[in-house]
Amino acid sequence: METKQITIIGAGPAGLSAAIYAARAGLSTLVLGCQPKIAGDYEIDNYFGFPETISGKELIERGRAQAERFGAEIRCDRVLSIHMDEDMRFTVKTKDTEIKTCAVILATGVSRVKPGIDNLGDYEGKGVSYCVSCDGFFFRGKKVVVIGEAFFAANQALELTNYTPDITIITQGKAPTMNGDYRTMLDEASIPVLEKKVTRLEGENGLERIVFEDGETMDADGLFVAIGEASSSDFAYTLGIERKGVFLVADDKKATNIPGVFAAGDCLGGFLQISVAVGEGAVAAKSAIGYVKKECADMETT
Ligand code: FAD
Repeated sequence: METKQITIIGAGPAGLSAAIYAARAGLSTLVLGCQPKIAGDYEIDNYFGFPETISGKELIERGRAQAERFGAEIRCDRVLSIHMDEDMRFTVKTKDTEIKTCAVILATGVSRVKPGIDNLGDYEGKGVSYCVSCDGFFFRGKKVVVIGEAFFAANQALELTNYTPDITIITQGKAPTMNGDYRTMLDEASIPVLEKKVTRLEGENGLERIVFEDGETMDADGLFVAIGEASSSDFAYTLGIERKGVFLVADDKKATNIPGVFAAGDCLGGFLQISVAVGEGAVAAKSAIGYVKKECADMETT
């Protein structure tokens, strides 16, 4: 079985940032993960140090090259399980292999819950977004809809008022649960909540209108999906890792309740942004480096 001092699960901004620190500290560092969702033709406009827009694809390629320069090995493989062995080290089982490791950093991100709109994927990055903090700016003064029935949708709609006054929430036919103060705030911001279901999107070079189940249409330049997140870290639950809803729980050093297991990025929840993931990856790596030096200084790696 191959042996690594640090195994990082996830090759997104958090995992790659952690890999840069771990490999630069001279530890044998393996990153397991395939291309993250952001590694497409998405325009990143809010990441420090890039005065011109950079694509998600280029940002991730640069991060990978940087981690590899310091000796990190990055492999596209899916982790299926992690077990703690009697010697307090971990066995990480993947689709292709097994790895013995001293410390694990979980940087698996989250998946967005999708609203069941037939051709949603055709418009991702062309009007469909999952993040107001990322893309709200691109819809200044435009007509946007937010899909979701709960507080998250209300929050995203209220955040959108920084960019445009023309916002409608659509609940996909569900009864809205954003009641109380949220309903008052939505009313004050003149944001209607429609209990209707969108089934198709239309537009030539980007989103232009949405089509409801009853065949009616509504013009829209942007559609923000705000239904919620799903976990990508289920494989780690058998360790007894503490979680809150779909998110993992870690302290301010990004240590989980399991000694030797650290976590960073979207899988911890909070402000789901590249800059936060990169920062948390650095903190998790610093903690993991300290753990390895203390607990496994004599570990032979292959
Ligand atoms: P991710 O980037 O999600 O990476 C998760 C990694 O874990 C992937 O490599 C995946 O393959 C791997 N993984 C998951 N499960 C397993 C497993 N079982 N085994 C092995 N590997 C696994 N943020 C901004 O700051 N600005 C923006 O403009 C912006 N635009 C966005 C546009 C889109 C379309 C999306 C989806 C997100 C956007 N975000 C933006 C948010 C940003 O992408 C995330 O906050 C960031 O990527 C989180 O990084 P992460 O490393 O925590 O997780």
